[in-house]
Amino acid sequence: MIQTPAIASSAVNGLPSTEEESIRIPGFIKPYGVLLALEEPQLEILQISHNTQEILGIPPEQLLNQPLEKLLGTRQASELKKSFGGDFNSINPLRISIKQSGKTLLFDGIIHRYDGVAILELLPTKSKSPSTFFNFYHSVKTATDRIQETTTTVELCEAAAQEFLNLTKFDRVMVYKFDPEGAGTVVAEAKGESVKDSYLGLYYPATDIPNEARQLFFLNKVRVIPDVNDPPVALVPAHHPKTHKPLDLSLANLRGVSPFHIEYLQNMGVVGSLVIALTKRNALWGLISCHHYSPKPVSYELQTACEFVGQVMSLELVSEEENDDLDYKIELNTAQSRLLESIAMAQTLREGLIQACPSLLELVSAQGCAICINGDITVMGATPHLDDVRDLVQWLEREVQDNMFFTDCLSSHYPVAEQFKDVASGLLVLTLSKIQKQYLLWFRPEVIQTVSWAGNPEDSYQVDETGVRKLCPRQSFELWKETVQLKSHPWRTVELEAAQEFRSALVGLILRQVDELTKMNLELARSNTELDAFAYISSHDLKEPLRGIHNYANFLMEDYRDVLDEAGVAKLQTLVRLTQRMENLINSLLHYSRLGRAELSRKPTDLNELVQQAIATLKMSQSRASVDFRLPRPLPTLECDRTQVTELFTNLISNAIKYNDNPEKWVEIGFIESKIGNKNAKIPYSPYPTFYVRDNGIGIPEQHQGKIFQIFRRLHAQDDYGGGSGAGLTIAKKIVEHHGGEIWVSSQPAEGSTFYFTLPEQEKA
Ligand code: ADP
Repeated sequence: MIQTPAIASSAVNGLPSTEEESIRIPGFIKPYGVLLALEEPQLEILQISHNTQEILGIPPEQLLNQPLEKLLGTRQASELKKSFGGDFNSINPLRISIKQSGKTLLFDGIIHRYDGVAILELLPTKSKSPSTFFNFYHSVKTATDRIQETTTTVELCEAAAQEFLNLTKFDRVMVYKFDPEGAGTVVAEAKGESVKDSYLGLYYPATDIPNEARQLFFLNKVRVIPDVNDPPVALVPAHHPKTHKPLDLSLANLRGVSPFHIEYLQNMGVVGSLVIALTKRNALWGLISCHHYSPKPVSYELQTACEFVGQVMSLELVSEEENDDLDYKIELNTAQSRLLESIAMAQTLREGLIQACPSLLELVSAQGCAICINGDITVMGATPHLDDVRDLVQWLEREVQDNMFFTDCLSSHYPVAEQFKDVASGLLVLTLSKIQKQYLLWFRPEVIQTVSWAGNPEDSYQVDETGVRKLCPRQSFELWKETVQLKSHPWRTVELEAAQEFRSALVGLILRQVDELTKMNLELARSNTELDAFAYISSHDLKEPLRGIHNYANFLMEDYRDVLDEAGVAKLQTLVRLTQRMENLINSLLHYSRLGRAELSRKPTDLNELVQQAIATLKMSQSRASVDFRLPRPLPTLECDRTQVTELFTNLISNAIKYNDNPEKWVEIGFIESKIGNKNAKIPYSPYPTFYVRDNGIGIPEQHQGKIFQIFRRLHAQDDYGGGSGAGLTIAKKIVEHHGGEIWVSSQPAEGSTFYFTLPEQEKA
């Protein structure tokens, strides 16, 4: 499709870079006009194209080294001399007529000077009089009006494709846009009725148009090839007699086209080609490429009109791309507002982000995202596997220092990413808090996955008689694919700005919530302390009258034994038992409140030793029970409060024995590395081990599992299963929480229970 000579030479044929020079100095011209290199000031003809006989009816050797007068006559030649002396940019084309064998031949004369050499090109024309401003105005008015009516780049490109089709009457017109790396896409297309297949959406590698060719498009914004099958015409002599170099045709309308490019067009069935450069702020934005499937001469007047419409479109591009950015920015802002609203309404940050999922993806136009809070990860959309995301987050923790990190080629930083390139070749990460491991990750797939080849690529193959595949669009697509392997669409500036803004808003919101939380925590701590103090004082004060009741009941039994009948004694005995029970309860309450007030005394503690000791004590007090105590592997040594943790294990192990009517009782005490988490056992991800005490006892029905940690809550009649105050698990919970951990149960009636808990070691300062 759209190629300059060098495109084919460097990209497809692998010729050395010096070959690029041939773009400017091909040594031949296209045959639809005559080119003359003139020596100033006399305008003597030093070089001339070999086709003068066909076009002018004069053999080249008759004109070579002759003054221009000989060809144009004195009047026209002296006018030309004047033109070369002034600003010839504004006078092209000059109307030139040459009388030959009784006929008058009309030409558009195009003059320019390049590299110190004056060049005249004579392009045959049929129109008798030169084009007036009004003719020109009428030819471009519709196109420019239509182009200026558009408001977005997409509309602009579509309108331009259609208008160039109307203006040029070519079979197919494409608007081709370069990305920042120089690769291009067909972004709009208009076709005549006879053209069936579509090139819309085709991608081409940056190497298709090397720098040299791009620069030439700046100098010479229109390039026309009326018929690719026309043989090129050489210049005589081949080298300029004064410079001894081939003539530099950078600015020449008739500049010859590389045979490679010609072949490329032929492979696509293109016969006539017209290309107009589109520029934006001194950079090549793209090209308008027109294809025709039969010869298609393009008058100089039409070329000028196309150049003018191309310029108008180039101007429009600036404002419309800004409009696009603005529209897109508004879209991103809307997504951001929706997200913040959802977060503000939700209980937790994670919940808020999940509930506004589409907006989270829309915020930066990503296909997948992952929310990582305190090491716990939720993924949404198209993302790598959870384990891969977890590894990636660990890598980010080590390697990325900034609040924002983004790449459109993750595997170049993190080679493992090649494995999930189809979903995450592009990555954008916001770090909300490194300490709390709060990260938001967005993913984009490899760009290849998002691109489809329009039409049938196989149709574009051509194999020559030796079996070699020839230059064709499909090869360009393959080349382009190589250049974008492992890459996603790049993150646009507006998207990165939106992510940064979102981060600031989020951090503000989180800080406010943390503020409120701190206030609530302080309040809670104060009321907890008050409650502990109240429990302590009241239970302490209750003990005294209770002791009195207990003593008096005993006195009554002893001193009035003779007076009391059996029923009276029994009632007093019950009273004593009840006071004993009440004392137990009060002691538990006192113990519980003391726990809340006591400072932890953390010391490295060998948990094996601690557990063995607890088991030994329990064995002594419950000597009749035969229990198999299992420790699958040695327990670690932990920084903890030895006394409290002994009580914790004792409570749990004693319950495991108590609430067990299995003839072969066992209790297992162990720990799990919870770095991997485990959904079945409800074990969340945690950097600390999760301990457990498991039994094969009676189990706990699901609906009661929440109640058992409440103080004085028993699930059984007072004296069943050896009785108890109902404070054991409440105390266990308090000890665990005091250590900064959590306790929970997993149980099935008749199948046993497992009590899990964590005992985080103190945060190292
Ligand atoms: P208690 O003094 O009654 O043992 P706890 O607070 O230790 O008080 O336990 C509360 C209740 O939880 C118990 O009454 C019992 O119903 C239930 N429970 C505790 N541990 C187990 C266990 N391992 N298996 C079954 N039920 C248990």
